[in-house]
Amino acid sequence: MNETAPKARAAIIPVTLFEQNCTLLWCEVTKRAVVVDPGGDVPKIQAAIAQAGVTVEKIWLTHGHIDHVGGAAELRDALNVPIEGPHVADKYLLDHVVESGANFGMTGVRNFAPDRWLDEGEKVSVGELTFDILHCPGHSPGSVVFFNPQMRFALMGDVLFNGSVGRTDLPGGSHATLIASITDKILPLGDDVGFICGHGPGSSIGDERRSNPFLTGEA
Ligand SMILES: [Zn+2]
Ligand SMILES: [Zn+2]
Repeated sequence: MNETAPKARAAIIPVTLFEQNCTLLWCEVTKRAVVVDPGGDVPKIQAAIAQAGVTVEKIWLTHGHIDHVGGAAELRDALNVPIEGPHVADKYLLDHVVESGANFGMTGVRNFAPDRWLDEGEKVSVGELTFDILHCPGHSPGSVVFFNPQMRFALMGDVLFNGSVGRTDLPGGSHATLIASITDKILPLGDDVGFICGHGPGSSIGDERRSNPFLTGEA
């Protein structure tokens, strides 16, 4: 991060039985924050917001899977903030949150529509931070990645993991499409780009390009 880059901080809050990395990200200048992928455990997310002493102004969703969106409607009501994302191709998932939740014993979840769908080339902002939207289908049809060029930082969702890639065996998934998204849109961002992903530890694009078995051809 260079000296002219906007200052941001993040806190990761593992939520749901899938230990999804709900991320509280904020602009240090304005203390304005976004909650990325509130999959559930909303009281735990609210405690993290209070502890950070920030004001949440938005909810961002990387894709429509239950572990990323299960708490979105509840948190939107509690904070009275808009939901932005994912891409409209994941609408079928947001229309069936209750059904998906029932499969995993998650009660109290609701179907919902975001206040804004996101598409390739659009921008979203929180405080003084601006992120570019990359539409990266494959894990789900409507997966998006949030990329901040100044900070060399991305919110990856379940597209690319430390040492792995998103599963593609769920309805709407395609491994070939996922690898194309990573190859065509993620790797060109640059080796120096660090990221937080939906599960497990984060990484950098360079580390994954060099050693991720799904990208080196070993998998
Ligand atoms: Zn997912
Ligand atoms: Zn996930």
